[in-house]
Amino acid sequence: MSYVDEVLAQVKEKNANEAEFLQAVEEVLNSLRPVIDANEELYRREAVLERITEPDRMIMFRVPWVDDNGQVQVNRGYRVQFNNAIGPYKGGLRLHPSVNLGIIKFLGFEQIFKNSLTSLPIGGGKGGSDFDPKGKSDREIMAFCQSFMNELYKYIGADVDVPAGDIGTGAREIGYMFGQYKKIRGVFEGVLTGKGLTYGGSLARTQATGYGLLYFTREMLKSNNEDIAGKTVAVSGAGNVAIYAIEKAYQMGAKPVTCSDSTGWIYDPEGIDLELLKEIKEVKRARLTEYAAVRPSAEYHEGKGVWSVKCDVALPCATQNELHLEDAKMLVANGCMAVAEGANMPTTLEATKYLQEKGVLFAPGKAANAGGVATSALEMSQNSERLSWSFEEVDSKLEGIMINIFHNLDDAAKRYDKAGDYVVGANIAGFEKVVTAMMAQGVC
Ligand code: NDP
Repeated sequence: MSYVDEVLAQVKEKNANEAEFLQAVEEVLNSLRPVIDANEELYRREAVLERITEPDRMIMFRVPWVDDNGQVQVNRGYRVQFNNAIGPYKGGLRLHPSVNLGIIKFLGFEQIFKNSLTSLPIGGGKGGSDFDPKGKSDREIMAFCQSFMNELYKYIGADVDVPAGDIGTGAREIGYMFGQYKKIRGVFEGVLTGKGLTYGGSLARTQATGYGLLYFTREMLKSNNEDIAGKTVAVSGAGNVAIYAIEKAYQMGAKPVTCSDSTGWIYDPEGIDLELLKEIKEVKRARLTEYAAVRPSAEYHEGKGVWSVKCDVALPCATQNELHLEDAKMLVANGCMAVAEGANMPTTLEATKYLQEKGVLFAPGKAANAGGVATSALEMSQNSERLSWSFEEVDSKLEGIMINIFHNLDDAAKRYDKAGDYVVGANIAGFEKVVTAMMAQGVC
């Protein structure tokens, strides 16, 4: 049995109940075969794959808080510190009822390679809770965030582990968590990113993941002799990533025609009204039905369906496993030429395989959405030097990083005779740097 197959079997046995984690490990290890096969003896002796698939530590804790009726509620908190070979653990905190250990482990595992791809010194981690921020008052959100930090503070620090936002964790939640960390530890340090601009946040962090996704997509199209300008774009999600992907798509001369949330989706053939979308999602925190109610050109549909629309480029920006094989078939039938993942692992393995077989350019999330964490690392740099850079400075660094990521993974794929396979390229480019660092640091 090959070394990859041996480790895959072990990982499956050890983590049998963690579907998303197994999916991520399978995708990464399978695509690393050319590198592993070329170094099999060394990697086996060093147990490189066993070490990289086992987190440094997994922290789980009780989060008790009091709701507005005086009732005590209890959630479960998580922080998985996966790998710090190239820098302090870095990765977001997801607040969503679906959160469990397997999901946090999948996200933390992916984060190792994503962070490595940015070429910045950050390791991989992820955390969160099964707490649902929807429908909660500001006071309840604060009570939860403070209680969450009452435990998390023991394990994080500006040079140790620097969490950030993710689904359900935006500027408000980061603010409450930062305040509590500062109160408990008595230090003002860059322990979280995604902070408000008045207390150490970076300009362009809010926009970074969506903008970065478009910088990456434009470069990928350009290298395949296509231009993003004039393209019709289907976007899923209506959160932080989706909104700023839509904004940058417009700036590049493309036309985004869809968005979605967990209850339904919008098709707006005249192009999504960005200001209206921001008002509904960022200010009112309301449902997309409100969008359709005031926009005559828009159709609202319950449930899922964004990928049934005719488009040139598809940008899944909501959540994991939201683009299935049947969706991929519809995209191909409708002439879609490129799929770039704004969310983490939104495309199932079968759908990815189908898209690649049909010649659709496919950009995996760990590369295409790395702009968020890259800008978080720029926020860490600004905090360390106690300076704030201008929006233009951060944005232009972000653009450079995304272009660089594309070429790094494009080159890695070509080196292993897999030209155009950006999944393989991203995994290899991310993996090589981490493994070199791990081996240099000995068995630890
Ligand atoms: P937000 O919470 O801001 O938005 C998420 C969007 O996706 C919302 O519109 C939400 O709808 C929808 N959504 C969430 N869960 C589901 C679900 N189970 N089914 C259908 N729709 C769903 O999150 P972000 O925009 O920050 O994150 C989106 C994705 O991008 C995630 O995969 C995240 O890990 C990834 N990502 C985010 C980064 C960032 O900087 N924010 C960086 C890199 C990756 P509703 O509001 O109805 O729940």
